[in-house]
Amino acid sequence: MSSTDTDNVQHAKRTIEGTRPIPLSSKPFPGAPALERSRSSSKTACIKTFGCQMNVHDSDRMRRMVLDAGYAEVSRYEDADIVVLNTCYVRENAVDRVRGHLGELSRLKKEGRVKKFALTGCIGASGESRDLQRQFGIDLVLGTHNTYELAEFVGLPGMEETHTPELPGIESEHSAFVTIMTGCNYKCSYCVVPSVRGRMACRSMENVVDEVRRLVASGTRYVTLLGQTVDAWRESGKKFCDLLERTAEEVPRVWFTTSHPSNMEDRTLRLIGEKETLVKKLHLPVQSGSDRMLKIMHRGYKSERYRRKIEVFREAVPDGTLSTDIIVGHPGETEQDHEETLRLVEDCRFDSAYIFKFSPRRGTEAAQLPGIPPERVAQRRFVEVLRAVEQSAFDNNQKKIGAVEEIYIRYGRNQEEGKAIGETWSGHAVHVQTDAQPGTYVTARIESAGPHVLYAGAPEAI
Ligand code: SAM
Ligand code: SF4
Repeated sequence: MSSTDTDNVQHAKRTIEGTRPIPLSSKPFPGAPALERSRSSSKTACIKTFGCQMNVHDSDRMRRMVLDAGYAEVSRYEDADIVVLNTCYVRENAVDRVRGHLGELSRLKKEGRVKKFALTGCIGASGESRDLQRQFGIDLVLGTHNTYELAEFVGLPGMEETHTPELPGIESEHSAFVTIMTGCNYKCSYCVVPSVRGRMACRSMENVVDEVRRLVASGTRYVTLLGQTVDAWRESGKKFCDLLERTAEEVPRVWFTTSHPSNMEDRTLRLIGEKETLVKKLHLPVQSGSDRMLKIMHRGYKSERYRRKIEVFREAVPDGTLSTDIIVGHPGETEQDHEETLRLVEDCRFDSAYIFKFSPRRGTEAAQLPGIPPERVAQRRFVEVLRAVEQSAFDNNQKKIGAVEEIYIRYGRNQEEGKAIGETWSGHAVHVQTDAQPGTYVTARIESAGPHVLYAGAPEAI
């Protein structure tokens, strides 16, 4: 998982997307820089995204509609005729942030600068959305299942209800997200996702492969398969591993996220090691190292099973990177539970982690549970887990110094820092001194390493 809303979360090693996020609202649509479009179009729109890659991808779909309707994309609310806030509901502070934006939009609308604004995504799907609509005068509220209704809002002919993932979106010219399933059938104690995104719905393999082929034909070189529990994908006897293998045959570079430990098959872990087009990184959220907590959280596995999966991964993919999600301060978490999480972190030698302090969410089981640790205790545990992850990430990264790596350029040279951001086949983020274009490869030697990123010298001539 990478997040555009980073409150209350620490990335012990940021993902490449997180290292230098592209401001979505100013991201040029393939073939036409945003600025050019804004000069030639009289209508303007701003799309702001909060949350995970699923939300980023949903925004891309909505961006398509907005551009098709003849709007130019702008990055500032005050320059926009219409604004779409695509939101996250997973933690309370995400909602607090969105409230701030809604307040500003309501003011701009009263001043006549913004004509109308929409609230979409997970907050739109929540029970709280009607109150927000009344309070801030929001023109349109959409959940995650009826995004197609945005069409009429932006002046396109009304669309038939579609299974949302069939509406393709484009991340950029060289890399793209492809949603293979939506929703979630688990009921983790703390999580609002099942209530705002509904039960799991899988796209057909044929449909996914068709989209992947279209993307590759249009120049995409890196596809990330997306789903809340992406490895739970299935279709008449076929499982996620089969779809991953098919995709890896069609695309030069492939990754997937987010996986659930209970669905992760050993053969998928081996496939990551074997198939040369698969990026050798695995994001497998564990949440806690304590079996008692995993039970309270309804995660459906014990820490031993998680550890075994990691052993298989490390053996099958010796040069791979491993990341996870951890929640500290869930109701009932004792000092001993916390110690067990620290032990698991040390044993699994994570390369990065998203660490969250528990945030009670209305309607979830955990919000009703007693025994939330005091804030200062949660904060200390948070820092201790963060330090443990940073230590293992730093140790792992140090081992890469001196290695000559083939690096996929994700973001071209940044004027201020003078470096491009790339990714090795092992999934490490690398800063590299090159003018190479996004979507191309360079080969360079790793010269130094921190806990979050590797630093390469100038590319070597091939
Ligand atoms: N489906 C994925 C899984 O089960 O691992 C995770 C999806 S969830 C949107 C992303 C992460 O947010 C979770 O892995 C969890 O660590 C964190 N999270 C979800 N609800 C939370 C809450 N109420 N408080 C704190 N963190 C939470
Ligand atoms: Fe939320 Fe659990 Fe489903 Fe992940 S598996 S989306 S944490 S309910």
